[in-house]
Amino acid sequence: MPRYFPYMLCLILAVLLVPVVPLYTQAQVIKSGPASCPGVALTFDLCPVRNGAGYDAALIDYLIEQKIPATFFMSGKWMTKHDQQVRALLKIPFFEVGTHGDVHAHLPLHSADEQKQEILGPVRLLRTAYGHEATLFRPPYGEFNDVTVHVTRALGLQFILWNVVSGDPEPTITALQIEAHLKRAVKKGSVIVMHANGKGRHTHEVVQDLHQHLLPERNLTAMTVSDLLTCRQEAP
Ligand SMILES: [Zn+2]
Repeated sequence: MPRYFPYMLCLILAVLLVPVVPLYTQAQVIKSGPASCPGVALTFDLCPVRNGAGYDAALIDYLIEQKIPATFFMSGKWMTKHDQQVRALLKIPFFEVGTHGDVHAHLPLHSADEQKQEILGPVRLLRTAYGHEATLFRPPYGEFNDVTVHVTRALGLQFILWNVVSGDPEPTITALQIEAHLKRAVKKGSVIVMHANGKGRHTHEVVQDLHQHLLPERNLTAMTVSDLLTCRQEAP
């Protein structure tokens, strides 16, 4: 055995033990609720859109009629075009409103100060124009680096990703394909990402299926993200 073998072994072990993502980042990024919680968070991003209404009225009316708790992540650019809708969503007691960047920027491409401005834009707008104190932030495209996590934490916001992708803005995907994927992926504590800006052609249909079949069949309850994180169930 060569004399340097123990040193080589130490080096290899050291390399293997360094996590790919720093622990600091992992600890701050929330992808799901407690695995013991019989709840699921239906989350809807309101990313800016170039064309169309930018608002899935049929989906949101259904959530309201059926009293389904849901969480919306609003981008600043979307809010400036949808003042009435922002007000309407904020009035629903079982809806939670978080933020989703100002102009839907690719955050890792920006400096710390630029990231701060992008994250703060809709937080300020919700506070000044609507009197709402947002506590949740979801990065546009789910893209982030350590700076993003640090800035979000310094602003006192919770960094919310997801652990179940619906794929609803994909133009070629069918409702059945989304539903089949959700049947495989949804479990206790899941956070599902969908869209309420009209980009998800089948989102309304998929949410109906979740509400009428998948969730009740598995004894799962829809909860807002904040309620899911503390597993707080509203009295029926
Ligand atoms: Zn988005």
